[in-house]
Amino acid sequence: MFADLKGQEHVVQALSNALTQGRLHHAYLLTGTRGVGKTTLARILAKCLNCETGVTATPCGTCSACTQIDAGRFVDLLELDAASNTGVDNMREVLDNAQYAPTVGRYKVYIIDEVHMLSKPAFNSMLKTLEEPPAHVKFILATTDPQKIPVTVLSRCLQFNLKPMPPALVAQHLGEVLAQENVDAEPAALNILARAAAGSMRDALSLTDQAIAYGSGRIEAAAVETMLGTVRRDYLFDLLDALAAQDGDALLSQARTLAERGIAFDAALQDLGNLLTQLALLLHAPGAMEAGMDAERMQATAAKLDAETVQLYYQIALNGRRDLPYAPDEFSGFCMTLLRMLAFAAGSGAPRPVLAARSTPARTEPAPRVAAPVTVPRAETLSTEPLAAPAPARAAAPAVPLQAREPSPNGAWDWLAIVAELRLGGMAKMLADHCELVSQADGAVTLRVGEAHKHLLDGAYQDKLVSTLRDKYGAALQVTFEIGAAAEKTPQQVRTRIKEARQREAVAAIESDPFVRELVEQLGGRIDASTIQPLGENP
Ligand SMILES: [Zn+2]
Repeated sequence: MFADLKGQEHVVQALSNALTQGRLHHAYLLTGTRGVGKTTLARILAKCLNCETGVTATPCGTCSACTQIDAGRFVDLLELDAASNTGVDNMREVLDNAQYAPTVGRYKVYIIDEVHMLSKPAFNSMLKTLEEPPAHVKFILATTDPQKIPVTVLSRCLQFNLKPMPPALVAQHLGEVLAQENVDAEPAALNILARAAAGSMRDALSLTDQAIAYGSGRIEAAAVETMLGTVRRDYLFDLLDALAAQDGDALLSQARTLAERGIAFDAALQDLGNLLTQLALLLHAPGAMEAGMDAERMQATAAKLDAETVQLYYQIALNGRRDLPYAPDEFSGFCMTLLRMLAFAAGSGAPRPVLAARSTPARTEPAPRVAAPVTVPRAETLSTEPLAAPAPARAAAPAVPLQAREPSPNGAWDWLAIVAELRLGGMAKMLADHCELVSQADGAVTLRVGEAHKHLLDGAYQDKLVSTLRDKYGAALQVTFEIGAAAEKTPQQVRTRIKEARQREAVAAIESDPFVRELVEQLGGRIDASTIQPLGENP
């Protein structure tokens, strides 16, 4: 019965119409991933064509043709598996047989499964029959890989693509089957089984069989998860909680716990993506949430994450899973994915510590971005500083022109160097920092302070600076202060310019980092430049 075919309404509708209106084709090609019902559909179609009630979309299921097809004993139905019969001889034998009229049925029906695996001569042999097909022959071809079928064959087939089944539908069907069998099952367990089956009803049924055996007749979520070796959702919630709290240590500690439990990280990222999907649903469309989710925990976690962040984490989880095969090892790939989530905030989201103070100003060598373990993760091999890249402290700082040259009262003064050497503190130091040297000759020095800082010319600060200078250059030193337009040469201004230059360099280094750029472009992320600090900077 077509009604038995779950989730393929589009195909069933088209086939039913064709059968009802008597528009029959010589060859049908059914495509789709494994376990979506291609063979089931092929057998139903065979019954539709041969039912003794006539060609119909609703075979009776009781006539001898229908019952014999169900029992696999119908002489005019030939089922071939191309995966095991790829030779041309076998194919020729089959096709030689095709020219004879059917023995008992209306049509001779050939079901060829995994047809893409036929050899080239076998395809040629089949093509000859397809070019001038005897009226009593029907081919029903099935394949998971239609790309490998010669276009000459494809063009002679009416093609139907069977879709992978959505997990909710698989879970629902499993529930119905189990209810008929009087097997008790938790709804959450069915969801887990459905997701694990990845769109294949056949896999879902087979996994469910195993789960019944594993749970001694009862299907429970905990037992099923243990059986599948999948991640317990609690751990995923803990990961999300650590992310929400921006707690890198807790995040990596959770990751290590998962590693110790022998969790497959690919499955973990998949489950994380699924959990984030459910969180997004909770935030946008609570009615659409899957049954059997831990509603209380969901609410608690959703309260800590905004919708935009959930979207970003979801995208990063997908990308992380895609890149997992290229990671140095699975655990590194998994940790990097989590750290990316930690490091990036979405476009206009709430201000979070984005790349805060953890980026190197310039990456001159292709150093690994995180001190990740290469093989077996152990507690001590993991850096506790999430994004503390292995960078040299104070790397690549521009040359700072503060080297103290030996100042001489007779030679030209280097005010910056002198101020750096003077033992000044407090407001006197600040005054010195905001002075620039106007002139210095014959034991007399003139210093200028900008309008904005003239308040520093308090007598006490002046006296302190002058006495410190006299200690160094002799008691006869004449020091004059004036107020005027600054030429931007004070020690403070020079330091500010250097700091700004280093900041620009750090931001540029991060912005030009290909990894960061890709994330920003793909995810619509945003670099919060105000949080970037050159490494080793002491504000
Ligand atoms: Zn029948």
